[in-house]
Amino acid sequence: MKTLLQTKFNISSEIINFSDEILAKIQPRIDQIKNITKYNQLKVLSAFQNNRVSDTHFGTTTGYGYDDAGREVIDSIYAEVFGSEDALVRHNIISGTHAISLCLFGVLRPGDTVVSVTGKPYDTLEEVIGIRGEGCGSLKDFGINYKQVDLIDGMVDHNKIMLTIDRNTKAIMIQKSKGYDFRPSLTNVQIGEIIADVKKINPNIICIVDNCYGEFVERDEPSNYGADLVAGSLIKNPGGGLAPTGGYIVGKKSLIELVAYKLNSVGLGKHVGATLGFNRQILQGVFMAPHTVGESMVTALFCGAIFESLGFEVSPKTDEYRSDIIQAIKFGTEDGVIRFCQGIQKGAPIDSFVMPYPWDMPGYNHQVIMAAGAFTQGASIELSADAPIKEPYIAYMQGGLTFDSAYVGILLAMQNLLDNKIIKL
Ligand SMILES: *Cc1c(COP(=O)(O)O)cnc(C)c1O
Repeated sequence: MKTLLQTKFNISSEIINFSDEILAKIQPRIDQIKNITKYNQLKVLSAFQNNRVSDTHFGTTTGYGYDDAGREVIDSIYAEVFGSEDALVRHNIISGTHAISLCLFGVLRPGDTVVSVTGKPYDTLEEVIGIRGEGCGSLKDFGINYKQVDLIDGMVDHNKIMLTIDRNTKAIMIQKSKGYDFRPSLTNVQIGEIIADVKKINPNIICIVDNCYGEFVERDEPSNYGADLVAGSLIKNPGGGLAPTGGYIVGKKSLIELVAYKLNSVGLGKHVGATLGFNRQILQGVFMAPHTVGESMVTALFCGAIFESLGFEVSPKTDEYRSDIIQAIKFGTEDGVIRFCQGIQKGAPIDSFVMPYPWDMPGYNHQVIMAAGAFTQGASIELSADAPIKEPYIAYMQGGLTFDSAYVGILLAMQNLLDNKIIKL
């Protein structure tokens, strides 16, 4: 194997030796990840059996999509796995942003206030809320107010949350994952503490969790801790690398109904919508998801440990608890993040021969470089790395369908940094 790394990928023996030492050091942590994978796999398998999944659920519907048994069984499995009353899992929820946007537009009404309690939400939600842009039909344009409780040193400010919530507060938003921030991701226990606080003030406040990158990372999900609506993308964790597109929302039955009204039409709800043959991939995807997420977790751990050993600040640190699949590395220089991302690209099964450069990505207000060589366009459950081109030059790496392949990407990123004298071994 060592010789293949050298002969097929031009990785130097010093990098191979360095990474072997790191791998040996993190073995106990890898074992912990494997235990979570096993636990979640049993949870998913049991949901498949309880829902009596069979070949008939792989069939397709067209037109209105009435009586689509596969669609119904997918919703039921998601509800069971996530510990929620109901679910809406659809190929035509086009992304995580769309899923979260549906939650907000589904439950908020003019005059309501929504409070983001984990600071500035993910970049693409700024236009949904109306923090950026005008006259596009944002929440703000519909008379829905927005407040934000900033994090203090990356931690949730419980006191400020209690002071910010008032009679008009209809919902709060919690972002589990760090996203493009250098802060610890929230654990489900911490999410539960926020929800408990908020419900003490008013039990009717709807607690919405952006769960992107958080699924199957811990033994539980935010819905197990009282979240009313939880949303994410199928080209991240729960699609298992197999769902070709889609999003999901799980939560309270009455709220899922309102969200389905927004996705489809008021009055139509969730029992319509042709699935066009995607049911099998969505089902196989969620079945594979605990395993795929486990591979991504080992990849993130390995990458973090490598760059921590090389003297970079990383988040999470090697010994820290992990609650999402993201590994952030603070390179501190533009050259550093660019070389890292370009190296990751070289390890991809798809498009390994192309060179990524920073570009003006729609929805973001600064340039971004993205390394992705994926079977599914933009799928970040596949090995990918992104970096906003701004101080302090942090690269965010996530995904990896199989660790054995993602490992090559990380070694190539190291090699690229070494060859350009950004790191020394
Ligand atoms: C990816 C992500 C989103 C948005 O998802 P898209 O599928 O890219 O629209 C929102 N929040 C977080 C934390 C994310 O990681």
